[in-house]
Amino acid sequence: MSEVLNVEEIFASNLFTLGKMKERLPKNVYKEVKKVMDQGGELSLAAADVVAKAMKDWAVEHGATHYTHWFQPLTGITAEKHDAFVTHPDEEGRMIMEFSGKELIKGEPDASSFPSGGLRATFEARGYTAWDITSPAFLKEDATGVILCIPTAFCSYTGEALDKKTPLLRSMEAVSEQALRIVRLFGNTEATKVVASVGPEQEYFLVDREKYLQREDLIFAGRTLFGAPAPKGQELEDHYFGTIRERIGAYMKDLNIELWKLGVTAKTQHNEVAPAQHELAPIYETANIAVDHNQLVMETMKKVAGRHGLTCLLHEKPFAGVNGSGKHNNWSLGTDNGVNLLDPGDTPNENIQFLLVLACIMKAVDTHADLLRQSASDVGNDHRLGANEAPPAIISMFLGEQLEDVVRQLVETGEAAHSIQGGKLMTGVSTLPDLDKDATDRNRTSPFAFTGNKFEFRMVGSADSIASPNTVLNAIVAEAFCEAADILEKADNFDAAVHNLIKQYMTEHQRIVFNGDGYSDEWVAEAQRRGLPNIKSMVEASSTLTTPKAIKLFEKFGIFTRVELESREEILYETYSKTINIEALTMIDMAKKQILPAVIKYTKSLADTVIAVKEAGADASVQAALLDDVSRELASAKKALIELEDLEKEAASIENQKELAFFYKDRIRVAMDALRAPVDALEMLVDKKVWPMPTYGDLIFEV
Ligand code: ADP
Ligand code: MG
Repeated sequence: MSEVLNVEEIFASNLFTLGKMKERLPKNVYKEVKKVMDQGGELSLAAADVVAKAMKDWAVEHGATHYTHWFQPLTGITAEKHDAFVTHPDEEGRMIMEFSGKELIKGEPDASSFPSGGLRATFEARGYTAWDITSPAFLKEDATGVILCIPTAFCSYTGEALDKKTPLLRSMEAVSEQALRIVRLFGNTEATKVVASVGPEQEYFLVDREKYLQREDLIFAGRTLFGAPAPKGQELEDHYFGTIRERIGAYMKDLNIELWKLGVTAKTQHNEVAPAQHELAPIYETANIAVDHNQLVMETMKKVAGRHGLTCLLHEKPFAGVNGSGKHNNWSLGTDNGVNLLDPGDTPNENIQFLLVLACIMKAVDTHADLLRQSASDVGNDHRLGANEAPPAIISMFLGEQLEDVVRQLVETGEAAHSIQGGKLMTGVSTLPDLDKDATDRNRTSPFAFTGNKFEFRMVGSADSIASPNTVLNAIVAEAFCEAADILEKADNFDAAVHNLIKQYMTEHQRIVFNGDGYSDEWVAEAQRRGLPNIKSMVEASSTLTTPKAIKLFEKFGIFTRVELESREEILYETYSKTINIEALTMIDMAKKQILPAVIKYTKSLADTVIAVKEAGADASVQAALLDDVSRELASAKKALIELEDLEKEAASIENQKELAFFYKDRIRVAMDALRAPVDALEMLVDKKVWPMPTYGDLIFEV
């Protein structure tokens, strides 16, 4: 019998929850905290001191020795710098652990080495971290001991955001304010804010750690840069939702426990499409907490893997030829009095507030399709979006049969008289229940799909932070709400005005709706006819951040300044070039030091064989032909290697970051593919025993 897990007890045991604050804080301080959490504003220093002490006492009771401001710089991962609670000893040498309100609220890491895109010169490198009171503090347990982590925002001395959290928080306030104007128009006087909720489904791969350590590409690039396909791929679909193997199961169990302790509601787990690929989904929560938690999920996935002799790969495309990994970002908006703005109800045609919200989202997504696409781009995701794998890089919206029909009625006649209903699903078996059917089937090929009471943005990459996609979603929808509210608040006849506006928006933006197969070539052509942007790469998407349209949007709602946007664009170029440079150097290293020497040795043994066989008077034509084939591919590989090395030298002379990024995309990546092709061909030709690293078959089928 396995040990009984008390999940209720484990859950949030490492989280300084509101409940714990209530228990440990004097009533007035607790009230103050709650007020700032709900309505914004600043905590008094006196209250902060009390909170800090309570937080520290709780942490120390759980074994904590240090605290850290935990933040999310533009590297896309999280950062921490630990400080012990240690203070100066008194005369008698006694030391009392302390933590002050000031230390809780503000930190100043010397963080001059984080990417800032020119926002901070190193001589003026002050960066501050500020406590995000809306995201609870937590304890991280690992070999370092127990560390109290305080979620914070990270800003420069002059107030520019240097992180992913600050703009997200700003966008949440913007969408809340504008959405409130919409619900007020429909008579909701109770709601005091509208909250963006997010549930991210996280895909990942697990490989054996020993084998991982034998592959430089996995170590340095997080993905395979060489590798011939295994005889079997994912074509049998026997892995998807398949029984979870023991070793993986033990990992998942451990992972869940670690996440539950942190208050992450790990809920769903299953095997994904590709061999060795899996998924975890938590229950949705407030956007900024969901973002923090997704970072913790990724970090914990990696950490726990080590305990099981595994390595977790979060890269978007660790293996060519099988599915890559993404992150479905489920997003909705709800009032604090319990109304989900994206819930159509049973008869959406009669739900005018929902139709207005839908019309605004159609407008937002159509107007800023480029920004949304940009928000889902990172270096690894270039292998998926519009490249080797669906979904395409074109943004479109899937509404489903029911809503599409309502939109059509509105656009064509100005009235929506009815809604298609779901009906019953007949199982045809007397002992099985007949099921109520949703009014709409799913569409797995749409990048932005309406799924019942939320939108599912499916383009996001598995390794990426979900902060940017949600910042953009909140911002563009805030803008559409604002424009609608500006018109409707002034209208003499509200009913007529809202009716006209819904019809107008839906008519003007219906081109963004597409319910067909998003993976087909016909859609690419059709999207082009409709004038929808098809931005094929991260590098090309980067400049969408600084178009006049984007600057106007983000400045209007105080989410980004022009300078912040320009710096972020610059950082994207830098990140791209640096990442591809690492990949190229890794390929060169592997080819030169491992692959070519192994193959050369093999040609020697083949040549010896040919001679020996001939001397023995037998026919050596098979051996000689093989030697020919191997030598030919070897020569191609060598030639491609030299070309890649030359291009790397050329890259070193390019100073402009944008130009350099394009050089890496258009020249270096092409040269990398050219080197990979003959090497993969060689892998198929030579004796497995001489191949210097584990193959695809070893990596993804033998976990
Ligand atoms: P799927 O069938 O699409 O794979 P999952 O159950 O794996 O669904 O994940 C769906 C995600 O959407 C979960 O994280 C879930 O909590 C989240 N979700 C459900 N309802 C909402 C909502 N109203 N707003 C945001 N996210 C939601
Ligand atoms: Mg799922």
